[in-house]
Amino acid sequence: MIRVAVVGAAGRMGSTVCQAVRDDPDTELVAEVDAHDSLEAVLDAGADVAVEFTLPDSVKRNTTWLLERGVHTVVGATGLTDEDLKQLDDLTGPANLFVAPNFAVGAVLMMRFAEQAARHFPDVEITELHHPGKVDAPSGTAQRTASLIAQARRGEPLRSDEHAARGQLVDGVPVHSVRLPGLVACQEVVFGGTGQTLTLRHDSIDRSSFMPGVLLAVKRVATLPGLTVGLEHLL
Ligand code: NAD
Repeated sequence: MIRVAVVGAAGRMGSTVCQAVRDDPDTELVAEVDAHDSLEAVLDAGADVAVEFTLPDSVKRNTTWLLERGVHTVVGATGLTDEDLKQLDDLTGPANLFVAPNFAVGAVLMMRFAEQAARHFPDVEITELHHPGKVDAPSGTAQRTASLIAQARRGEPLRSDEHAARGQLVDGVPVHSVRLPGLVACQEVVFGGTGQTLTLRHDSIDRSSFMPGVLLAVKRVATLPGLTVGLEHLL
């Protein structure tokens, strides 16, 4: 039985993770920590793994604290930069760190397909659509998709104009952010070619879409030394 603490437990994602951990016969929910609680509760409860689903301004501080105390940590909150990840990687050793910008298998496949299509289409734009409570933009998934597209071009230029008012350029890929009630998390990657377009779209219509990925990471993190980024490494 894996003893799990959830940090950000009162949030939209955190509360869904708590329920998923309770429902899984291989995991036990031993601590629920939110903004006004002490992280000491994670240690007091003897958690094997902590799941971090807070917000961009607290995720690095919490993850640092957990790794320094030897708690394997699964991070779903967005906002960690490459530099942050490097610093957190240096703290691994006694404990491992798993980070995924998106725990939905469909979104991971969308990113993989976008990487493949990018080799054939130099024109591409991303639109990510989320609920209005999402504080950061562009989303972690959109940033990761843009980076994968740019890497897949292997130095070949992307064709994008620089109308920043429409969104933001991420690694040269224009990314647009929509925040509307009714949405959970969607992303569209549109490639344009001569006389054709290719659209990849993924919709998380419910937060349950992320739970199999989160539980998989919880069960595997102890066997993945150091830092691992991306659910694709577990599939
Ligand atoms: P939310 O605002 O509903 O929940 C965040 C929770 O964190 C709140 O309950 C808040 O009180 C708590 N919190 C804030 N600071 C804290 C601290 N220092 N210590 C403990 N708890 C603290 O947000 P949400 O919709 O649940 O999203 C949480 C994060 O997960 C966001 O960064 C979002 O982008 C990300 N997200 C990731 C995935 C993924 O698959 N990786 C999917 C959806 C959302």
